[in-house]
Amino acid sequence: MKRIGVFGGAFDPPHHAHLALAKTAIAQLQLDELKIIPTGYAWHKERPLSAAEHRLKMTELAFSGLDRVSVDEREIKRTGPSYTIDTLEALHAENPGSAFFLLIGGDQLAAFSQWHRWQDILSRATVCVAERPLQASAPADVLAQMPALRQSIHLQLPPMTVSATAIRQLIATHTGSPNTSQPDLAGLVPDPVARYISLHGLYQARPTSL
Ligand code: ATP
Repeated sequence: MKRIGVFGGAFDPPHHAHLALAKTAIAQLQLDELKIIPTGYAWHKERPLSAAEHRLKMTELAFSGLDRVSVDEREIKRTGPSYTIDTLEALHAENPGSAFFLLIGGDQLAAFSQWHRWQDILSRATVCVAERPLQASAPADVLAQMPALRQSIHLQLPPMTVSATAIRQLIATHTGSPNTSQPDLAGLVPDPVARYISLHGLYQARPTSL
């Protein structure tokens, strides 16, 4: 039976915790394949996302070196809200007999009862959770609300504080000289992603080009 991981996100931008989570999941869950799925319209995020083509390109750059990993464009191409259950149902139809593992961070676990058709998600995939520092709700509370999540797997990823929000804020509030219009992002995002952000002036308070 093929073991397929599914890792969705805004990836605005993709960062080192996303990569670490993916590597941990491949090793710990012995995945044959991991599909990275940038979201199209994020119904659960309050702010508008950066253009889909930027997020897709950065996601490809970030994950390109990883074995067994592919970036899947289906949610970006879909019109309307990006619901994980629609993606899982399509993947099941394309890969009959495979076992699916849905990778999420602890903040998403805390919000899981708000996901569209979350009960159906649990019947189609094993939820695998990476703890996040300062996550919104303790796992024990979540499990009391949704006992079915007791089957979830804890990913052995050491807590990492990096977030896309903090990276965007760092860039937007950076006051450098004209030659250093972007802060040093080493340690936060892979180098090719940092170069892409700089080239396109992403996340700056006054973008240079978009
Ligand atoms: P933002 O700060 O804009 O909300 P983010 O850093 O949470 O973005 P997303 O692209 O929204 O990044 O995250 C995709 C998935 O990766 C989500 O399931 C999220 O919980 C998980 N994730 C992101 N950062 C971490 C982290 N530091 N540790 C564990 N999981 C993470």
